[in-house]
Amino acid sequence: TQIVQLSRLQGEPVSNAEQVLVDDIVGLALDRSRQLAEQRHVNLTRGGEGGLVVRGKREQLVTALVNLVHNAITYSDEKARVVVTTRTVDEGGDRRVSIAVTDNGIGIGPDDTKRIFERFYRVDYARSRQTGGTGLGLSIVAEIVEGHGGEVAVWSKLGSGSTFTMTLPAAADEEEEV
Ligand code: ATP
Ligand code: MG
Repeated sequence: TQIVQLSRLQGEPVSNAEQVLVDDIVGLALDRSRQLAEQRHVNLTRGGEGGLVVRGKREQLVTALVNLVHNAITYSDEKARVVVTTRTVDEGGDRRVSIAVTDNGIGIGPDDTKRIFERFYRVDYARSRQTGGTGLGLSIVAEIVEGHGGEVAVWSKLGSGSTFTMTLPAAADEEEEV
């Protein structure tokens, strides 16, 4: 079903797409992650700037964020902390919105971070945890975010944790559009 959703933005410029409240994306993604977090006794919280707006398909963006949050919960030890943080980034006058998912879990080594967005790529020790899954989660995140004119990045250190950041173009303010 995730693949089917992807085709909907194709051919449609992101600038014409609907405005989506980032607070709603985060709220829905956390709602869909709470059960998994409770199962693993992971502390799941949100923070950062509110009232941010992007353009695109809300359901796709929620799917992307859910994939990141599920990974953060899954590849952490019990009682770990996962935080979703939103903020505005100004890249030379170009306003962008970043949504970051930070965990203090097992982390990813430098060789693996290079390949982690590839389809079906999984890190061996993680696979041995029998977490299930297909290794498609992050490739779907990359497709969705890139389809929205954004990018996804990872910072990670083995044994310390990871931060995955989706950066999307900010929707122009209503006043600017008129
Ligand atoms: P799926 O998401 O399809 O259920 P998956 O979680 O294995 O399966 P991806 O989400 O694409 O697939 O992640 C690829 C691999 O990257 C994972 O198997 C895991 O080894 C590693 N990984 C992803 N997120 C994290 C994280 N937050 N911390 C540590 N390792 C991670
Ligand atoms: Mg995954």
